[in-house]
Amino acid sequence: MKIDRFRIAEGSKFDFKAHPTDFTGDYTDKKQAVKDLEANVARLRELQDVLYANDKYSLLIVFQAMDAAGKDGAIEHVMSGVNPQGCHVVSFKQPSSEELDHDYLWRCQKNLPSRGMIGIFNRSHYEEVLVVRVHPEYLTYQQLPDETLKDKDIWKKRFRHIRDWEQHLSENGTQVIKFFLNVSKEEQKARFLSRIEEKHKNWKFSMGDVKERSHWDDYMKCYKEAIEATSTDFAPWYVIPADKKWFTRLAVSEVIVKKLESLDLKYPVLGKDHAAELLDAKKMLEAEK
Ligand code: ATP
Ligand code: MG
Repeated sequence: MKIDRFRIAEGSKFDFKAHPTDFTGDYTDKKQAVKDLEANVARLRELQDVLYANDKYSLLIVFQAMDAAGKDGAIEHVMSGVNPQGCHVVSFKQPSSEELDHDYLWRCQKNLPSRGMIGIFNRSHYEEVLVVRVHPEYLTYQQLPDETLKDKDIWKKRFRHIRDWEQHLSENGTQVIKFFLNVSKEEQKARFLSRIEEKHKNWKFSMGDVKERSHWDDYMKCYKEAIEATSTDFAPWYVIPADKKWFTRLAVSEVIVKKLESLDLKYPVLGKDHAAELLDAKKMLEAEK
């Protein structure tokens, strides 16, 4: 699969029209996509194992989307083969009072993956230039100094903070990739309705989600600006079509596999001393009665 078509190149525009939400490329139905996803899931397991053994890099994967776009399902399916000890998922909700008493990147910094790990942000620091921008009153809960709160360039500056932070991460071993699961407003409606109609999905439904939907155009505007301002060579955004869940999952898995493969990691080669130690240990074990 050509994943470059989903990537927003640094400094370029993100045009929604060029990213149809129902795109499925060469895949006409689910069957082949599910097979290819399985292969990627297995490959991901191998790649994560080397990442862990290598212990120099970590991979931070950011998921952002409107409600019901399929973040949870994508995370569940794509990561289903990875050793649970090598993967860490963090879901960012409305900030706690402790979190609000710190700068907005604090809780993200605290939850970064350690070397060798894959960290997944289910929502992320990007909420700070999305939901907070759509509801500017949220800013007033953030205990910000007056000059920051009143700064007309506050969003521009936040984009800069985010770019700088991600650059710092990438220059220190944490590779960053970011997914926007791009679902259509019609498909979101259909998914909300099925959450209402199907009993086993009722728990997923929230009235708040329907209210957020009324701000759809504002969200799209904020997504566009945030993605254009923060898609970089070191931390690119991928806009993934999300009307067909099976395609979303496959495309996400493809991007992650290619990212890890690009690191070209190898299992560490033992130094002479360590190799000699292994031989000694072997002799000791074999000499046991
Ligand atoms: P799901 O609905 O699938 O369980 P979710 O990510 O939508 O997953 P919810 O608990 O429904 O989880 O929603 C979390 C809410 O927290 C979202 O509406 C999100 O916009 C909001 N949120 C996240 N970060 C912030 C933030 N920094 N400031 C304000 N609201 C935030
Ligand atoms: Mg929700």
